[in-house]
Amino acid sequence: MIGGGRGQGGGFGRGQGRGGRFGGNRSGLGPAGNCVCPSCGYKMPKQPGVPCNQVKCPKCGTIMVREM
Ligand SMILES: [Zn+2]
Repeated sequence: MIGGGRGQGGGFGRGQGRGGRFGGNRSGLGPAGNCVCPSCGYKMPKQPGVPCNQVKCPKCGTIMVREM
């Protein structure tokens, strides 16, 4: 009974949980929407994978925000 207790026991818990499923509808953000310029009101369709706050308004250069 001495020794031999360690070495195994790392096989659980990993590997499941973060599924690799794309195209689901369970993201926090909605599937569609618009980015809107808070300054001039210009709207554009949100591009997937590009947060609105990384897009500048083509008209006035203000950072866009997501339209609710
Ligand atoms: Zn603008």
